[in-house]
Amino acid sequence: MLKIVEIDHLTVKYPDVKALDEVSFSVNKGDFLGIIGPNGAGKSTLFASMLGLNTKYEGSIKFFGQDIRKSKDYLKQIGYVPQKPIFEKNFPATVKDIVHMSLRDESNKNKIDEVLQQLWIHELGNRRIGELSGGQQQRVFIAKALVNDPQILILDEPVTGIDQQSIELFYSILRELNSKQKITIIWSSHDLDAVNQLANHVACLNRTLFFHGVSDEFFENDELVKQYSEASMQEHMHHH
Ligand code: ADP
Repeated sequence: MLKIVEIDHLTVKYPDVKALDEVSFSVNKGDFLGIIGPNGAGKSTLFASMLGLNTKYEGSIKFFGQDIRKSKDYLKQIGYVPQKPIFEKNFPATVKDIVHMSLRDESNKNKIDEVLQQLWIHELGNRRIGELSGGQQQRVFIAKALVNDPQILILDEPVTGIDQQSIELFYSILRELNSKQKITIIWSSHDLDAVNQLANHVACLNRTLFFHGVSDEFFENDELVKQYSEASMQEHMHHH
């Protein structure tokens, strides 16, 4: 098994809070990893650190065997889908423009149509991004992340505020990208059922990593699932 991501004793301290505390795990090529954890668990901090956006951390992060502090080359192999950004209705860019902006090599322009087709949004190519539904916009952002043929796709809570039908389509697209194109997926989600159905590995994060392993091992362990549910319930009550 080829380890393409290795996180070792990752600790991130903000002035008031330790967002990540000695987090260690690795991801093998072809894995579909679901990262679950309540709000404030450190998921965004983890992604920001992996993407080189947060450099104030202790411990180490390696992609393809190389420390990310030494070279940013690994970023070319990553497609990142952020939490759903919201566009003004009149934002002056079409779907094709949005995907084109990410294209690194102009000689691969045909890749734009290819990814739009793959995500079932080809017929929307000339529409303004702001006119699209949340689910359609989300697929545009996946297309944008895929246009440079990345080996790894990182997605941060990407179904918030999207209708059920679009969520189902989104999940089937993720499944296909992983199984047919062998893209390694690292995906944070609140949806335990979806993680159970899609991911083959689970990382359960709440500042510390309290589980990492194959997903069956997590979901067959009632005690762990219960702990997670309690953690998310407390966090829910905290906010309401
Ligand atoms: P999640 O994505 O799981 O909701 P975050 O990584 O956003 O978690 O946040 C983890 C903790 O770190 C939270 O307590 C949050 O308030 C805090 N935090 C996140 N970003 C910052 C920051 N830039 N400065 C200070 N505290 C932060």
